[in-house]
Amino acid sequence: MTALLDLESVDVHYGDFQAIHGVSLSLDEGETLAVMGANGAGKSTLLKAVAGLMATSAGAVRFGGQDLAGMAPHQRVAAGISLVPEGRRVFKSLTVEENLLVGGYSGRPGPWDLAAVFKAFPLLAERRSRTGIHLSGGEQQATAIGRALMANPRLLLLDEVSLGLAPVVVKDIYQALPVISSRGTTVLIVEQDVSQALSVADHVQCLLEGRTVLEASAASVTRDDVAAAYFGLE
Ligand code: ATP
Repeated sequence: MTALLDLESVDVHYGDFQAIHGVSLSLDEGETLAVMGANGAGKSTLLKAVAGLMATSAGAVRFGGQDLAGMAPHQRVAAGISLVPEGRRVFKSLTVEENLLVGGYSGRPGPWDLAAVFKAFPLLAERRSRTGIHLSGGEQQATAIGRALMANPRLLLLDEVSLGLAPVVVKDIYQALPVISSRGTTVLIVEQDVSQALSVADHVQCLLEGRTVLEASAASVTRDDVAAAYFGLE
């Protein structure tokens, strides 16, 4: 079976600084991969390289078997790759429902519509008429994820969705992830919280200073294994 996402020996530079060193990764359709690592390990850079927001300087990024080299970010969205960047960006003057509908505009056909998003995030259903400016951090994050889903991506890229949120809200966000997977959407999540990541991922990959230091099925590793890799203790 061809992997949905396949990275082969990818390098990424910021000017002279090399942030990613020969990272390979493979993610099958319908599975969830968590990329973990400390601050500055290169997690966001890797997501940006998949979304087309950062150029790769070596290696290949393939999606559904197709090499994405030279493909602009908007073309990658059209091909089925949606990124929820760090920082919960929602349109502050639009309601939750309007934010979601914007995400679906010119989207691909698929399992995601307003009703499906509200099922995955019941808290949004209750807030559907509330404007962005009046939403809590968690509601904004859920709206940002819901908006990305409305485009019916084959691959959803989530960058640190729990960062800065209260634990009870993080729980709500994480409860939605199995629902997202159950509709066949493949998820690549960047997460610093090892327990959260292990609770939802099929596979985990740990980066340290831009290099892969651990690659395993989530069921075969403990929190301590990941933490050790995270800090380069292995
Ligand atoms: P964080 O959790 O802090 O976002 P991260 O694992 O996502 O960390 P990246 O943001 O991908 O890490 O950063 C990887 C490396 O690239 C770091 O050393 C960082 O300082 C560097 N870097 C990130 N963005 C830039 C930039 N715009 N210009 C130069 N260097 C950058």
